[in-house]
Amino acid sequence: MPDYEPHEKYQSVLLFGAPGAGKGTQGAILGRIPGFFHLSCGEVFRSLDIHSELGQTFYEYSSKGELVPDDVTVTMWVRNVAAQTTLSLFKPHDDLLILDGIPRNVEQAKLMDEHVNVLGVIHLVCPDKEAMIKRLTRRALKENRVDDAKENVIRNRWRVYEQETAPVLEHYSSSIIHEVDAVGSPASVLQHVLEVVVPIQDSHFNNPISGEPTGPDA
Ligand code: ADP
Repeated sequence: MPDYEPHEKYQSVLLFGAPGAGKGTQGAILGRIPGFFHLSCGEVFRSLDIHSELGQTFYEYSSKGELVPDDVTVTMWVRNVAAQTTLSLFKPHDDLLILDGIPRNVEQAKLMDEHVNVLGVIHLVCPDKEAMIKRLTRRALKENRVDDAKENVIRNRWRVYEQETAPVLEHYSSSIIHEVDAVGSPASVLQHVLEVVVPIQDSHFNNPISGEPTGPDA
């Protein structure tokens, strides 16, 4: 397999949905399956050293529930994904990249078009905003997250989602957008997510014979 050329776009699927819809949960499960690589933009931000300049920038915005500026975000994301590729944690010729938390507005979607080929968008839909806000509050208590610790910050994140993030859907062709009901157990949501992503993975990658070793755990 030749090395990955930097100008090649990463074949991707975008996990999309409001705060609390369960993108992180689904992404983490998918990321365990050979042939998928999950990268959460929020997790990359949280892994930064809080004393670094970028770490401080992240803290400044996320503690108010606001988005980190687009150029900083996309540059950081591109560097991180390149590093994962160098380390062979992500193999762009074998793995479908699961985008989670990026693009978060239309400007980011345009910037990301240089780097990713979005083959599908999974829109996790939950009609009950209050139920999702409760889910976020519970998670904040469990995971000690500054961004979700206060209800006004959560509500601000929702406002940002409705005003800036929701229009991202219009950036993509409706033919690749798949609505998935976000209400239900992680396993039942996963079942519907897999119905979308498995055919995409199958049609874009040469999958190894079942049982053949594929990853670092193999
Ligand atoms: P969620 O709980 O919705 O998954 P994340 O963990 O993705 O939230 O993001 C946490 C915070 O990190 C956001 O509130 C924001 O400040 C910052 N962030 C994450 N992704 C982006 C992005 N694509 N653009 C700008 N800021 C981002």
